Amino acid sequence: MSAEATNPATPGPVTPGAQRRRGRARLDLRRLGRAALLGSTTRDRLPDAIGHVAEAHRAHYPDADLEPLRRAYVLAESSHRGQMRKSGEPYITHPLAVTLILAQLGAEITTLTASLLHDTVEDTEVTLDQVRAEFGDDVCYLVDGVTKLEKVDYGAAAEPETFRKMLVATGNDVRVMSIKLADRLHNMRTLGVMRPEKQVRIAKVTRDVLIPLAERLGVQALKTELEDLVFAILHPEEYAEVKAMITANAEAEADSLGDIAGEVRGVLRDAGIAAEVLIRPRHFVSVHRVHRKRGELRASDYGRLLVLVTEDADCYGVLGELHTCFTPVVSEFKDFIAVPKFNLYQSLHTAVARPDGEVAEVLIRTHQMHQVAEAGVVALRHPYASPTEESAEGADDERVDPTRPGWLSRLLDWQRAAPDSDTFWSTLREDLAQDREIAVFRPDGGTLGLPAGASCVDAAYAQYGEDAHACIGARVNGRLATLSTVLRDGDTVQLLMGQDTASGPSRDWLDHARTPAARIAIRRWLSTHPAPAPAPSGQTRKAPVAAPRPEAAEIPRPAANAVVDREGASVRLAGCCTPVPPDAITAFAVRGGAVTVHRVECPSVERMKEVGRAEVGVRWVDTAECRVTLTAESFGRAHLLADLTEAIALEGVAIVSATVEPPTQQRVRHTYTLQLPDAGHLPGLMRAMRAVPGVYDVSRAQHPAAAAH
Ligand code: MN
Repeated sequence: MSAEATNPATPGPVTPGAQRRRGRARLDLRRLGRAALLGSTTRDRLPDAIGHVAEAHRAHYPDADLEPLRRAYVLAESSHRGQMRKSGEPYITHPLAVTLILAQLGAEITTLTASLLHDTVEDTEVTLDQVRAEFGDDVCYLVDGVTKLEKVDYGAAAEPETFRKMLVATGNDVRVMSIKLADRLHNMRTLGVMRPEKQVRIAKVTRDVLIPLAERLGVQALKTELEDLVFAILHPEEYAEVKAMITANAEAEADSLGDIAGEVRGVLRDAGIAAEVLIRPRHFVSVHRVHRKRGELRASDYGRLLVLVTEDADCYGVLGELHTCFTPVVSEFKDFIAVPKFNLYQSLHTAVARPDGEVAEVLIRTHQMHQVAEAGVVALRHPYASPTEESAEGADDERVDPTRPGWLSRLLDWQRAAPDSDTFWSTLREDLAQDREIAVFRPDGGTLGLPAGASCVDAAYAQYGEDAHACIGARVNGRLATLSTVLRDGDTVQLLMGQDTASGPSRDWLDHARTPAARIAIRRWLSTHPAPAPAPSGQTRKAPVAAPRPEAAEIPRPAANAVVDREGASVRLAGCCTPVPPDAITAFAVRGGAVTVHRVECPSVERMKEVGRAEVGVRWVDTAECRVTLTAESFGRAHLLADLTEAIALEGVAIVSATVEPPTQQRVRHTYTLQLPDAGHLPGLMRAMRAVPGVYDVSRAQHPAAAAH
């Protein structure tokens, strides 16, 4: 983006905007087009100016065809000719620098071509149609994606709406954001020529929006440099302090980490593991963070060791050697290989201490993991090469497809509902400020990604959008839970939907909604519906309506038969297919040590197998006993109890005990413990109960009706 360099109110060197207005009459589209076509240099030679770009690109793609780059450079150079950066340099230096950043990160040719052209449509006479005609749809889409909306059309909303447009474009092609991030990095590097207040404004947007996006897209190399540039502008004193510390300790750091690196090399050589051992200085912000956390810093705290190996398995080999030959600091060990972060990052982290007390943090990864850690989505070779079967199947799982991350889909969902630029802008910052994500499972085997601290309310809106207004409860890991329940990574959530379309969210849902999607939807609903009269103070005391009898035996239940370490694992029946004896069943381990049982023909089974989940053997036990406890959730009405008990009796089933909870918000829960002639009756019974008007869900309960009292 160039508007940082095009403020017409700013006196000083000629800006591109001023140039464009002045030069408009002289510019000749056809001449530009022809220049691009013919090239202002001979056809087979690359212009010297893009030599660095070509070299960096060839380092990643030795056989690359550089012709599109040459043509893009010729068009960009000729169309920007005469324009100057605010620094006084020819404007073309900017797209060249941006493209070099991307080439060094390993971006593919379409990204680089679009990057060279990224400011032409915004700042020169070149049109999108021309870019499309000469470079194709993809390049045109990327250039369009990063082209700013004009201040004359949008006023103060130009910046928020430009970001909205860019994020929408990123949803279709993640390369749009790669270019934007590199563009912002170069603009931040050259921000010193701007007025201080403008520097601060741009740095804040970089901090609140671009850095979180770089982090989420896994582009560590851009993220760390942007962090340091922002730090220098927004916290000049702390920056100077950290800089002084780094300078003063440079020698001691090199000595200390150099010694440890030497020892590590020796250890790995003796073990026969081929590895590269590098010293990586921490960036300024990282030194600042460690300083704030630990107080006084040791020389070895200014950097970390990076161990690069070829094979995945060697990572653990290196770890084993280090933990054997040094004293590991166990609390520092993290395995981001077995459990990758949501942004694709993979690495082993540990810290080892020498007898003299020096401690070194060590990162262990393969060369491939290192490339992904540094460049994230930028390094994807063919981001839109025909998707594989698995990635199409597992579209719900954001860990599967890095080009369509779940957080981005959710962002694009809520932004559609954000009515105005201000709401969008403040919500975007709020959304991006949320920390790490958790994954919760739906009973059908799909996954929902949510921010840490999200509740069932958030899960409901993530899954159902505005239809979640009709949500009345949830089952978390098989147990009924209130909508305010905070979810943990690995939970299974089944949302219970009411049929009453007139019902809506209550105001207190806002207290439990953490995601923008939920907050925006709830606020919208509340603003269009008057507050209801306060409900009579409903007590949730349970009242038995039939004489309780001692509970004889548990219902037929599947038991994990497996694997010794799963004995005693909590076993739950999948909500999607509710298996009953004598159904053929299979099961899958889910996080948290539980096992979820499905009927073998359930579609979820196929899906789970396709994503590589291992099956766990299960069998029915106690099938002779046919006592079962069912919970019927209903909207309260007259004669409901009579109708339900009649439906049960008509199925030839005896009621052992029952409890009815007094209605809350028009909803009632009946729990029946029933004696069935045989297990085969259960599906028919549940169908009959569901058919009773007002009943919206019938499910197996965890506890017998009488015991609940
Ligand atoms: Mn730019």
